[in-house]
Amino acid sequence: MFFNRRGQDDKPEVVMLDTEVYACSSCNGWMRKEFASADLKCPLCGNDTNFEMRELPQIE
Ligand SMILES: [Zn+2]
Repeated sequence: MFFNRRGQDDKPEVVMLDTEVYACSSCNGWMRKEFASADLKCPLCGNDTNFEMRELPQIE
């Protein structure tokens, strides 16, 4: 599911996607599922992460 935002000005459209991420439980660190480390630990502090959905700009 995605949202195609069409503004009234001429800015390029940013497509937002519901993205699967792993978010850290103790800091602001997070990683996309496709780039997650093998042990699913936070890339910043090494704590456990929680799986969640976030709306993020689409990456090509
Ligand atoms: Zn962290």
